Amino acid sequence: MVRVQNKVSEGEKKTFWVCFFCSTIGGSIGFFHSYYIVTWLACAFGIILSSMMHNNGYRIRLVLYCYLLVTLDGLSIIFERAGRMVYQQTSTEYYIQHIFICYILLFFFYRLSKVIHDYIDDMFEAIRTAQETSELYSTRVKYDALTGVYSRDYIYRNYMDIFKDASPKNKKMMAMIDIDDFKLINDTYGHDKGDYVLRRVGDLGRSFGLAEQSDEIFQIARFGGEEFILVFNDSDPSICYMLLELFLREFEATEFDSIDKTVTLSAGLVCVSSPQDFDNIFKIVDKALYDSKKNGKNMITVANI
Ligand code: GH3
Ligand code: MG
Ligand code: MG
Repeated sequence: MVRVQNKVSEGEKKTFWVCFFCSTIGGSIGFFHSYYIVTWLACAFGIILSSMMHNNGYRIRLVLYCYLLVTLDGLSIIFERAGRMVYQQTSTEYYIQHIFICYILLFFFYRLSKVIHDYIDDMFEAIRTAQETSELYSTRVKYDALTGVYSRDYIYRNYMDIFKDASPKNKKMMAMIDIDDFKLINDTYGHDKGDYVLRRVGDLGRSFGLAEQSDEIFQIARFGGEEFILVFNDSDPSICYMLLELFLREFEATEFDSIDKTVTLSAGLVCVSSPQDFDNIFKIVDKALYDSKKNGKNMITVANI
């Protein structure tokens, strides 16, 4: 934050000096070549440019400097008029009027630069809000809000094609896990405790095994309700089975505050060795999970395809 502020004030100073030099160079050309209009145009340009600055103090200093330039330039023309052919026919009042018109115009440009600055500020604010909203939205789309694991949509979007190039030499593994008797947990201990158990599945999934990031072993997503899917990175079925077994046993050993019973998981594991459609894999893994439930729960059923 501090560094950002430093950068902003450095930028302010630079902008101030750019505006200052624009006005000075224009003012000098106007002065030495007797083009009064160049002087005030350069000042006007410098002031408009100052709309980039946040600091109104800098802007006011610049405007005062421009007033000084316009005044000096105007006075020099009035006093040196006699020596300059081009101004000889024009009266002093005419130039005094000119100077006052320039004062009004400079004030007008000062106001304009503030309006432009506010407009730019609003625009940046709108961009910032849009960015924050889109970041929030993409986080929500990527992760499941309750458990913190990937969302079902994220897995669909990113792993849709992974089974298309599966072969006996390049096996792909996916598992579906489901909390056993979860409805009973909700009914006995309340929905909050049910959510707490769900979060613990997410916690274990995210910090699984020895790896700091479970992403090195598998991608875990909440499929919906109390069901999760795991897409393994390893292509060795026995390793994937062992990891899944470890997952189930670690979860079984988890102790939950105020829940005085062991909570277990059932799983279906599919080993894919031929090109397959993602949806088809879901049907097969779901059937394997169903078999685990049917055969007593707290176990893994493997399906090969
Ligand atoms: P089984 O061992 O056969 O899987 O039985 P089960 O009770 O775990 O499965 P069932 O499908 O009968 O019940 C799942 C329950 O999960 C029902 C539903 O209210 C609950 N549920 C789904 N989503 C959530 C959630 O986000 N939070 C909580 N607390 N409960 C949820
Ligand atoms: Mg269940
Ligand atoms: Mg279920």
